Amino acid sequence: MKYALITGAGRGIGRAVSLKLSSMGYHTLLNYVHNDLAAEECAKMISDSGGESTLLKFDVSNREQTEAALKNWSDANPGEYIEVLVNNAGIRKDNLMLWMEESEWQDVIGTNLNGMFYVTKPLLKSMLIKRAGRIINIVSLSGIKGLPGQTNYSAAKGGVIAATKALAQEVAKKGITVNAVAPGFIISDMTSGLDESMLKKQIPMERFGKPEEVASVVAFLASSEASYITGEVISVNGGLYT
Ligand code: NAP
Repeated sequence: MKYALITGAGRGIGRAVSLKLSSMGYHTLLNYVHNDLAAEECAKMISDSGGESTLLKFDVSNREQTEAALKNWSDANPGEYIEVLVNNAGIRKDNLMLWMEESEWQDVIGTNLNGMFYVTKPLLKSMLIKRAGRIINIVSLSGIKGLPGQTNYSAAKGGVIAATKALAQEVAKKGITVNAVAPGFIISDMTSGLDESMLKKQIPMERFGKPEEVASVVAFLASSEASYITGEVISVNGGLYT
């Protein structure tokens, strides 16, 4: 059985990605940080459809916690390795820079950007040894275009995009691909406070996307069909100009 780790797997896009990768035959490792109920529900959906999953609760913005959780998993599963990593865990704390608190900046950089580094680094060695791996980073339109009120989030996602391109070149000859998926507005808890009826007027498709519409692109990038694609950022945004 092959293993896929999805960070922020309990809800929203991460849950849809987990279900999709499970349907492709992966044993999914479901990371989350607080919401036990949502993560357990996701695991139940996977087992109800005949898949296998393991819950891995840790805070991706905390290096010690992340390294310990990943080490525990590999100690408990000798000879196994994580072939697919989806760095999806993310938060936003919007504010105009003039009013932005230091904590709003640090928290968003900590989870979205540092989290990608803390999770990816420990998993790279096994991928390099096995000469196979897929790393897929969930970024955002905000990291491509920059959005007002999101200097912290745009900086974090823009940083992940640049890291995606750099890492892709470091590991390309070892059979590892590194790509990013940049959603626009997707229906999830993260966007539940937004005024959809107003925002959808800017979107050529005139609607928010569904988590499953992001998950299908992640699944493609994880598959062997995407073997010659690396260092790319694929937008999933209903035609919203980037
Ligand atoms: P969501 O519904 O708010 O879910 C976020 C998930 O991330 C939850 O499972 C949460 O865990 C987990 N998480 C948050 N902080 C974490 C941490 N420090 N360590 C581990 N897990 C953590 O968000 P979403 O809308 O599905 O977004 C998923 C990704 O897509 C994010 O990276 C987001 O920036 C990106 N994105 C979303 C949209 C959108 O429109 N929704 C657009 C562009 C990009 P708990 O359940 O335990 O809280």
